[in-house]
Amino acid sequence: MTECIFCKIINGDFNTEFVYENEYAVVFRDINPKADTHLLVVPRKHVESLNELDDEVLLGKLMMTVRDSAKAAGLKSYRTVINTGKEAGQEVFHMHIHILAGSIKL
Ligand code: AMP
Ligand code: ZN
Repeated sequence: MTECIFCKIINGDFNTEFVYENEYAVVFRDINPKADTHLLVVPRKHVESLNELDDEVLLGKLMMTVRDSAKAAGLKSYRTVINTGKEAGQEVFHMHIHILAGSIKL
């Protein structure tokens, strides 16, 4: 049984609404938004952080998912952030990409 909160979300344990999803990732709203729109792009595969990601195809697919989910959310202009490691502010150790748009408090 996984203890990873994002794996649980991907499994549907919390009925989290996915604003976008594909074969590689799910996209949902950050529970504590730092911008008018704050989405998280989360790979379906559990990888702790960017440091442990050794699949360049998956990394490319994740960036395409950033673009496609931003477009689906009606965003033309947005910032992407990947926190890697505790000292850099990573809190959830299932790699993810933040999408921030509008007024950004970060
Ligand atoms: P990071 O600090 O880069 O690890 O980002 C983790 C993000 O996950 C934070 O911005 C949290 O607000 C967000 N978060 C934590 N738990 C949940 C949850 N259950 N649903 C949505 N977002 C979450
Ligand atoms: Zn996980």
